[in-house]
Amino acid sequence: MSVTDIGRVIRIDSKVCWVRLEDGTLLKCPVRGRLFRAESTAKNPVAVGDRVEVMRGAGTEDSGSVESVLPRSNKLSRPVVASAGRKEQVIVANVDYLVVVGSAARPRLKPGLFDRFLIVAARQALTPVLVVNKIDLTDLDTLKIELSVYVRLGVLVHFTSALKGTGVEDLRRLIRGKRAVFAGHSGVGKSTLLAALEPGLDIETRTVNRKTGKGVHTTSQVTLYETEGGGCLIDTPGVRAIGLWRVEPQEVDAFFEEITDRSTECRFRACSHDKEPDCAVKKAVEDGAIDVRRFESYRRICESLKEERRERGY
Ligand code: GDP
Ligand code: ZN
Repeated sequence: MSVTDIGRVIRIDSKVCWVRLEDGTLLKCPVRGRLFRAESTAKNPVAVGDRVEVMRGAGTEDSGSVESVLPRSNKLSRPVVASAGRKEQVIVANVDYLVVVGSAARPRLKPGLFDRFLIVAARQALTPVLVVNKIDLTDLDTLKIELSVYVRLGVLVHFTSALKGTGVEDLRRLIRGKRAVFAGHSGVGKSTLLAALEPGLDIETRTVNRKTGKGVHTTSQVTLYETEGGGCLIDTPGVRAIGLWRVEPQEVDAFFEEITDRSTECRFRACSHDKEPDCAVKKAVEDGAIDVRRFESYRRICESLKEERRERGY
C-alpha cells in the first residue's frame, strides 16, 4: 500500500523531481503531468524549494509521485517567454534570503541591479541581502561610502572577497540554517562565493572570458545545495530573465522608500518627479538628501518599464 509523505523538492531535471522527505530519504519522482508544466494552467507548478505531498511507490523504496504542492511562503519567479509574459515560472519557492551578488570590479559594480532586485524582493516577500564581491580589487572605504545608502535604508550589505576569504565568515553566519537563493550576473564570482561558503559542495566554477570579462555560462538550471543545520544554498542561472515582472511604472515609487517619503510634498499628487514644478523629490536630490545615483536608477527603472509597456502594446 502507498503512503503519503511531506517532503521538499531539491532538484528538478527533465525527467526526475528529487524530493527530500522529513526522515532524510531522497525520493525520485517522475516529472509528468500538469504539476510540472509552467505553461500549463496549473496554479502551482512544482518548483525547487516547494514543500510537496508525495506518494511513496509500493515496493520500491526510493520512488514516488508528487501529488500536490503545499502553500508557499514566497517565491522568486519570472515570466514564461512563450506566454508573452502572461504566465509565470517559479524559479524557487520558500526562501529566507535573496542574496544578490555584484562585484566591486571586473566586471564593474552595477548598483542598478541591486535597485531592481530590491523591488523583486519587496514584491515577492523575500529578504534581500546585497553582496559586493571581489573587494580585493578595489578600495573598500570608497565602496562602503557608495553603498551606504542601502545601509541607511536598512538593507543588509556584505562585502566579500571569495578569492581571499574576506567577509565570507560573516555571510556564512547570516545564512547558516537558512534557505538562501543567490542571483547575480555571471562573472561576479557567485560560484566561487558559494564554494567558499560551503567548501564541501561540488560547485561548478566558471572561468571569465578574457575578451568580454563575462563568465562563460555553464549553469542553466536552478541548483539547490543542502547545507548543515537544515539550510540550503540555491544557485540560479543568469539574472536577466528575472526582471521586474508585472510592475507598473507608477508603482515604482512605492519601492523607493526615500522617494515615497518626499513625494507627499510634491506640488502634484501624481508627480513623476521629472519636469513638474515644485517637485520635492528633485529638490531633495539637489540638496543631497536623496542619493543621486538611487534617483537616477529610479528614473531608469521607470523608463524601462514604460518602454516594456509600449512593447506589450498597452
Ligand atoms: P560566476 O559567473 O559569478 O559564478 O563567477 P565565478 O565564480 O566563476 O568567478 C568568475 C571569475 O572571478 C573567476 O576567474 C574567479 O576566480 C574570479 N573571482 C571570484 N571571486 C573573486 C574575488 O573575490 N576576487 C577576485 N579578484 N576574483 C574573484
Ligand atoms: Zn515630484
